[in-house]
Amino acid sequence: MSRVVAIGGFDHVDALSIGGNSPVLIQTMWKDRLGFSDLEGKAGEATVERIAALKRMGCSLLRFAVPDLEAAEVLGNLAKMVSIPLVADIHFDYKIALRCLDFPIAKIRINPGNIGSRERVEAVLTRAAAKNRPIRIGVNAGSLPLDLRDKVDSGDISQAEALVEAAEQELAIFREFDFSSCLISMKASSVADTIRANRLLAERTDVPLHIGVTEAGPLIAGVVRNAAALMVLLSEGIGDTIRVSLSDTVEREVIAGREILACAVDSGEALIKGGGAAVKRAGSQGQGVKIVSCPRCGRNSFDTHGFTEKWQPALYAMDKNITVAVMGCAVNGPGEARHADLGITGAGDKVLIFRHGKVIRTIDAADADAAFREELETLATKFFN
Ligand code: SF4
Repeated sequence: MSRVVAIGGFDHVDALSIGGNSPVLIQTMWKDRLGFSDLEGKAGEATVERIAALKRMGCSLLRFAVPDLEAAEVLGNLAKMVSIPLVADIHFDYKIALRCLDFPIAKIRINPGNIGSRERVEAVLTRAAAKNRPIRIGVNAGSLPLDLRDKVDSGDISQAEALVEAAEQELAIFREFDFSSCLISMKASSVADTIRANRLLAERTDVPLHIGVTEAGPLIAGVVRNAAALMVLLSEGIGDTIRVSLSDTVEREVIAGREILACAVDSGEALIKGGGAAVKRAGSQGQGVKIVSCPRCGRNSFDTHGFTEKWQPALYAMDKNITVAVMGCAVNGPGEARHADLGITGAGDKVLIFRHGKVIRTIDAADADAAFREELETLATKFFN
């Protein structure tokens, strides 16, 4: 089992534990560069609300690229405005890491092997230790040290072995400075390499692992590749935080992460290895809203795709274990979704809302959103409080 690393818990920042028997946490990474204008006035309110919504959806850690000192100032100021632990993602420049540690930024992602001189590494680790800020090492198949790259190219070692060797080199630097509040990730765009590398490293260290397939592609490819790798690793008890890297929005990365964790729990019994504690740990944050929706066919009289797309963010942001069904037709809809707590379906030129398979409202399509909202609120307050 991995060691426990504490994160946050100072100022107004959420206190979390990563590793051990703690829940597996979902992380995502902001897609654009933030400027000071994104923190001011209406734009600032929108930024803070978007981050609050991500947290409600199940995101526990939010990472930002910090390519220069100005980005560090912006992130530092954002960290004063939100409670979700923020992670500064830094490459090479130790001065950026030192500046980030002046702010309530909860975690730094930097590789000690990339910082330069021993004095610089010591400066970053000493300040991080004094401020109780963990550091994550991020090893990536695309940026392996040249000697390891050569060994892979000449067939001496596999890509997975090279990732592990690079990770162990970085961990050795932390050990040298007696810095134990660390985490590590080894990312590859290959599902097989991601699984192999994390299995290998999990046998050799108790440092918590952040897992995911990197550069995983657009929505469908990215979700499938991540699910394929993460389900295997989680079922074996490997992985303490996850990120589903997508060429898509942060919201979809979080939703995908939630669905993968829910599937890991669901299938825990069926997966042979590690189906117990590790899989339960994956889902110990609670299921939240589960959406079932029909694929639509020629019988449909309701745009299930549009309705699901529109309601998805709000539903995932609800802190209730409710199953919601969105069905295309009255012939099969309510029957197919009998298990749903609340459902909506087309019925000719009308729309039906049903609860546990029984129709409770018949409305015009134009009133569908308002009626669905009312019934969802009623369900949440009366039946799931
Ligand atoms: S609920 Fe109706 S529209 Fe949707 S797939 Fe089933 S039969 Fe087709």
